[in-house]
Amino acid sequence: MVEIDLKGKNGLVLGVTNQRSIAWAIARPLAEAGARLAFGYQLDRLRPTLEKLTSGLGGTILAECDVQDDDQLDGLFEVVEGEMGNLDFVVHSLAFAPQETFTSPFVETDREQWRVAMDVSAYSLVAVAQRAAPLMTQGGSIITLTYLAAERVVPHYNMMGVAKAALEASMRFLAYDLGARGIRVNAISAGPLRTVAARSISGFADIYSEAGKLSMLRRNITQEEVGGLALSLISDRLGGGITGETVYVDAGYQAMGMFLQEPDGGPG
Ligand code: NAP
Repeated sequence: MVEIDLKGKNGLVLGVTNQRSIAWAIARPLAEAGARLAFGYQLDRLRPTLEKLTSGLGGTILAECDVQDDDQLDGLFEVVEGEMGNLDFVVHSLAFAPQETFTSPFVETDREQWRVAMDVSAYSLVAVAQRAAPLMTQGGSIITLTYLAAERVVPHYNMMGVAKAALEASMRFLAYDLGARGIRVNAISAGPLRTVAARSISGFADIYSEAGKLSMLRRNITQEEVGGLALSLISDRLGGGITGETVYVDAGYQAMGMFLQEPDGGPG
């Protein structure tokens, strides 16, 4: 078995709201592998939850950061540099689009809704990468979270699908820019998972249940499976040759071209 050893490595994790957050499912195996972690949280009200969740990790750093605010981003990276010195990886696991964009038809998206969704869900990866790269003096790995609606229409995702398309394109350009410095940038495209962000998407219960029935594995994925993929992508030993990629952990759903009712009662 390949042991992943991240002792002596420093990482920044953005997007933990509670124990169901994908960012937390990723943080846990990273900490178990020995990495020291800093967490950025958007609102002060989240700090007690984070303090509780991370209390057993040791050496953890917590800092407030709304990714729409350049001063807060600068402040977060000052704390990270001051406490850790250098960074080895970043987990960018956050997104936001105004609630109405999930309930109204996409054609009704207004300029402000577009701006906010793009700013939080796509530009923030660029803003984070440009501050993280100077701290990645020995190379590094940056991962972000995306969804199939970046490339196919998934009803209700609307503006979030457009923002994820911009996020995936940004990931590739960042991977090109930062590749010469040994910094890898990848996106994990996860199947539906029950989280706070997912709950804001109208029709999510149906999307979750359809994905479970129609995927090749005939089941939904788990938070732990996303954490395992993230650990592999962050580890140079396993993921060292991978950059500029969108990697799927979706039980095979995205590779299906057609859904037929099978005699075994499977997809259809
Ligand atoms: P989650 O637990 O609700 O995490 C979303 C995070 O985004 C929250 O911590 C939220 O903070 C943060 N956030 C929103 N606006 C922010 C801002 N302006 N500044 C800083 N942080 C901000 O939900 P999740 O499902 O784990 O989402 C994580 C990522 O996975 C997202 O990119 C999502 O699109 C992606 N993803 C999710 C699924 C799924 O089915 N759940 C599937 C594929 C991809 P607050 O709680 O303070 O708002």
